[in-house]
Amino acid sequence: MASVPFDQMDGFIWMNGEFVKWTDAKIHVLTHGLHYASAVFEGERAYGGEIFKLTDHSERLHESARLLGFKIPYSVAEIDDACRTLLKKQGFQDAYVRPIAWRGSEQMGVSAQNSRINCAIAIWQWPSYFDPAQKLKGIRLDLAEWRRPDPRTAPSKSKAAGLYMICTMSKHAAEAKGYADAMMLDWRGQVAEATGANIFFVKDGKIHTPTPDCFLDGITRRTVIGLAKDRGFEVIERTIMPEELEAIMPEELEGFQQCFLTGTAAEVTPVSEIGPSRFEVGEIAKTLMNDYSAAVQPKHAIAAE
Ligand code: PMP
Repeated sequence: MASVPFDQMDGFIWMNGEFVKWTDAKIHVLTHGLHYASAVFEGERAYGGEIFKLTDHSERLHESARLLGFKIPYSVAEIDDACRTLLKKQGFQDAYVRPIAWRGSEQMGVSAQNSRINCAIAIWQWPSYFDPAQKLKGIRLDLAEWRRPDPRTAPSKSKAAGLYMICTMSKHAAEAKGYADAMMLDWRGQVAEATGANIFFVKDGKIHTPTPDCFLDGITRRTVIGLAKDRGFEVIERTIMPEELEAIMPEELEGFQQCFLTGTAAEVTPVSEIGPSRFEVGEIAKTLMNDYSAAVQPKHAIAAE
């Protein structure tokens, strides 16, 4: 894709109830959300002209704001409606949808009781989060130095902008070493997730994934667990320690044999390496990758086949 800067693309952005020309969707430099990270957002994908699990995402946006102590002045139904209308207006079938809500510039300082709550939605074409060729071979993950915080330290169930500071730092460190992404542990040293996606492992035909008690229980994660169960796979949500990954080769059956990430942007992405550990792009990862691709297609497209 040509590298058009994100503030210079064509089309419209929905901002506080109006469709604003893309290049005019601006905020003031003294915005609370920028200075103090009082912002929450969503990441959604449209397939064949329909946004997958749209209402689940709009509800999570509301819940994320509630956890940060503010109320979005548009209902879930209004946000759903704005997303659908904007998708049509942008003219895309397959696209990425980014709603965001933030405290405005009416009051500066830690306290922002009088700041207005703003809401905007942008939609653009974002084909694959990871390099498509690499995705089929499995992506390589670094081990992040930063850890997901204790829920007593940060509102970890909120998709809050502030929680991404350590994700960007971890991803940049990984990219500098030639990795696609990084796996983060949590504050206790348990396996948590990647910087923008949940993580799954496979061992002897069973699927294992960390219990989401201090990170997002992703909408894709829940969808993929459902798809795996539909196939009759056992899915075990439990504490996973990093030592369990240590098998250096997939043939050594001591560790996990397969690994994959799930997320709206990442979809289902197989992982081939995490630090010293190696995984094969196996049948279960491939099956779930295909099942997810089928599940996201709009119902009318499937009926027309
Ligand atoms: N964890 C993090 C940190 C994320 O940014 C995302 C993407 N929203 C996920 C997990 C996966 O969530 P979802 O499947 O709802 O996109």
